[in-house]
Amino acid sequence: MPDHKPRKHLCLDSMIQMIYDSFDSIPDHRPNRRKDKISLLDTLMSAFAMMHLKYPSLLEFDRERETEELKFNLKHLYRVQGRIPCDTYMRSTLDPVDPGAMREPFKLLFNEVQRGGGLKGFRFSCVGLKDHYLLAIDGTGLYYSGKCRCQECCIKNEGKANEAYYHQMLAACIVHPDRETVLPLAPEPIVHQDGTTKNDCEKNALKRLLSDIKRDHPQLKLVIVLDGLYADGPTVRLIRSYGWHYIIVAKDGNHTSMIEAMDALDQKGDVKRFEMTDGNGAKHWCRYANGVPLNKTEPVEIVNVLDYVETDKKGKRHTWGWITDIPLTEETVLPTAEGGRCRWHIENETFNTLKNQGYEFEHNYGHGEQHLATNLAYLTFLAFLVDQIQQLCCPVFQKALKLRARGTRTYLWKLILRYFLSWLIESWEEMFQAIIHGTAARKIQFDTS
Ligand SMILES: [Zn+2]
Repeated sequence: MPDHKPRKHLCLDSMIQMIYDSFDSIPDHRPNRRKDKISLLDTLMSAFAMMHLKYPSLLEFDRERETEELKFNLKHLYRVQGRIPCDTYMRSTLDPVDPGAMREPFKLLFNEVQRGGGLKGFRFSCVGLKDHYLLAIDGTGLYYSGKCRCQECCIKNEGKANEAYYHQMLAACIVHPDRETVLPLAPEPIVHQDGTTKNDCEKNALKRLLSDIKRDHPQLKLVIVLDGLYADGPTVRLIRSYGWHYIIVAKDGNHTSMIEAMDALDQKGDVKRFEMTDGNGAKHWCRYANGVPLNKTEPVEIVNVLDYVETDKKGKRHTWGWITDIPLTEETVLPTAEGGRCRWHIENETFNTLKNQGYEFEHNYGHGEQHLATNLAYLTFLAFLVDQIQQLCCPVFQKALKLRARGTRTYLWKLILRYFLSWLIESWEEMFQAIIHGTAARKIQFDTS
């Protein structure tokens, strides 16, 4: 069941229009623009369509580009007005486009979800935090090769025989312990930065990402959820400087002085313990303390520490450790632990979906010389955001997914592509109604005259 009133503008036809309007403001970089050239807007929308329809390759899209169905449906469903670009044209036109321009539709779509009330179900309920949202952030690889290289490639083993090139992406998604859907904000590419000689890294990308999020969503109250790579003073101070909170994995082995400080507090009786058995028979045990020094050297960062053990019904133990600035009490330890465990959603619901459920995130659609790889990755992420919003806010999509695809998204993608290639469809509403209700059986007609 949709968890709030359906709003027309959150259905796919309106979302595609918003993406179209946003891409329309990207200036065409090509000099001496001729009227007969395919516009940058049509090229961007065709590329987005290819990602959204989960085409396995540019070439396959290219093969079908002259069919009446593809032309008609690209025009009506994706607003492609003129000719459809071939694969080489698409690559060469998208290569020089500034990837910064790709952030805009993410912001517009997110704001629409927020305006329509779709964000309410993601509220993080923890005593003392009002109207906050959990934002899980993590990096993933999208390209690795010993051969192809562009100006954005980071380089591994530079100058050696096994020199290799790679791109990564730092993703940020609004997550909730009880929800499968996630809401990605515009991701940040981890790629070679202009004017530097060093490889880019996750830590630098995080600085750019957080600064962009603050600029794009200044009012959003966040609890940033990160893995152990970020459990350090500079990251904690950076997050606090934006007025946000954090829950960061802290593994024992990396924080000897913090563990010693915890033990010292424990001897004084300042470490509290909490135990409970939940409705599923799983046992939860934790120990926690507030005001623990994270490090020894100046500036010393003071954090709150939560060690957590869950023993499931079969007796299997799962252990976690986090640092946070949320004051830990008997009321807050469970929600804080649930928030910390939400990091799993970015691994599973986001990266796993992007890599294994039709989006072909690691597939090389083309690398280019300037920004092609990054721009195509942005379009893939955008297709993922659109699908997540539909799953969250669009009743006709939810019905098609439930009734015809029995909840299996990859099967729904197949159905959509099948309809797209065989019928003339004027709107997404029509597409989903046809999928839900089925179409009349047809017999193949021959005309051998
Ligand atoms: Zn590259």
